[in-house]
Amino acid sequence: MTTETINISKQDIRRIFEAQRANRQDVAQTTARERIAKLRRLHKTLMQYRQEIRNALYQDFQKPPLEVDLTEIYIVTSEIKYAIRNLRRWMKPQGVGTPLALLGSRSYIQYQPKGVVLIIAPWNFPVNLTFAPMVSAIAAGNCVMLKPSENTPHSSAVMSKIVKALFPENEVALVEGAVETSKALLDLPFNHIFFTGSPGVGKIVMQAAAKHLTSVTLELGGKSPTIVDETADIDKAAARIAWGKHVNMGQTCIAPDYLLVHESRKEELLEKIGQQLKAAYGEDPSQSADYPRMVNRNHFKRVKAAMQDALDTGARAVTGGQTDEADCYIAPTVVTDVGQDSRLMTEEIFGPVLPAIGFRSLQEAIDIVNSREKPLALYIFSKSRSNIRQVLNHTQAGTTCINNSLLQFNNHYLPFGGDNNSGIGKSHGWYGFEAFSNARAVYKQVWPISTNDLLKPPYTGWKQWLADFTLRWL
Ligand code: NAD
Repeated sequence: MTTETINISKQDIRRIFEAQRANRQDVAQTTARERIAKLRRLHKTLMQYRQEIRNALYQDFQKPPLEVDLTEIYIVTSEIKYAIRNLRRWMKPQGVGTPLALLGSRSYIQYQPKGVVLIIAPWNFPVNLTFAPMVSAIAAGNCVMLKPSENTPHSSAVMSKIVKALFPENEVALVEGAVETSKALLDLPFNHIFFTGSPGVGKIVMQAAAKHLTSVTLELGGKSPTIVDETADIDKAAARIAWGKHVNMGQTCIAPDYLLVHESRKEELLEKIGQQLKAAYGEDPSQSADYPRMVNRNHFKRVKAAMQDALDTGARAVTGGQTDEADCYIAPTVVTDVGQDSRLMTEEIFGPVLPAIGFRSLQEAIDIVNSREKPLALYIFSKSRSNIRQVLNHTQAGTTCINNSLLQFNNHYLPFGGDNNSGIGKSHGWYGFEAFSNARAVYKQVWPISTNDLLKPPYTGWKQWLADFTLRWL
């Protein structure tokens, strides 16, 4: 949980960038077979480093090994396997239709690598959020510079070893460092920037990208609401919310951030969430080997202050509330009677505190969701199809999961990403490949005569008639 920074000079950053620029055409020319071979090597190396990755994450914030396996390593290995299975198809030119007015031509899309791309990652799933986008970038044929977070230095060090073992610097390079390093990277004219982090820093990244008209994918955060209506299976909802909220100690971008529960089921749900937490982490979660820690004192203080602010203004802790600063420990906490203007309801919580608010009509819950920025994830627990439809049709969110939590992230067939404040662009599977590619539009004239041969100046005789016909019928 230290925050050491490995400093790299601006000159070194530029040198690596220029080396990648010089190499990008060669990397772009690699075949599907060559890219698949790289991904296979990455998969093998990740498995070889499995224990080292687990150790690093334990040192960074006591993340339990099983959670490392499933939420860090598996996410990357499954992304690799999915890319390997589909890459040949993704790289093939994709034919599109031809309008009648362009009869005699053929058109297709050729996905080409963007070039040299930058991936900036946060600390909360350091391996997952650095390497999974890298898989998409490599599959798409790019050179890649990676900048993991300074808050998880042990994870960064292992990732650096893996990258060095697998790739020459002019193809993939990992740069360790904090904000100044990130800024030095952002000064460079990358062909694409893939940033995962907070909306505030996302704005800085987008501003820097604008200087070079660099395209961006911004995977941001925010407050993900969780709606539980009067028809929901409360046992299942309690189990899945308790799990989704406390994996990674709530330091998850798509964790249920706040709970909107029908008044008639509120007490029952909160009690059952409490029981689930006890079953998972015991009477004293600080003694549980399965409960991580806040990544550092700053984040500990931020979450504790938000919790205290709510408690000082009339909120009640139904369960939890205990903290230990020296250990960066906050017990799994559920609070109710929370003010809508409290910090818990206005800032992203990103920690193990779940505020719960009762509603009497579904519209009330929808209005609360819509009074805030569009979330990255929205969860609905309900047995009522019409209630589910009403929530889906009257709210917006980057992703939604019905009757479960977090698992939408694991389906590579779905795009992952936010909307406006929660993000721009999508990742995972095909959508990740697409994010790191330019969809080059290719039109090919096949017949000897084309529309513009017929319709070129001088615009005399039947040409006006043909234009009229085109406007009317084609
Ligand atoms: P952060 O925005 O503070 O940092 C992310 C990265 O940006 C780090 O590598 C950091 O070094 C760099 N950075 C920080 N300040 C910078 C600056 N001024 N200029 C340039 N670079 C800077 O985010 P974090 O605290 O690491 O992560 C938490 C946030 O990330 C939360 O908001 C969370 O919701 C979000 N998140 C989103 C996703 C997603 O997939 N959408 C996933 C995980 C986390």
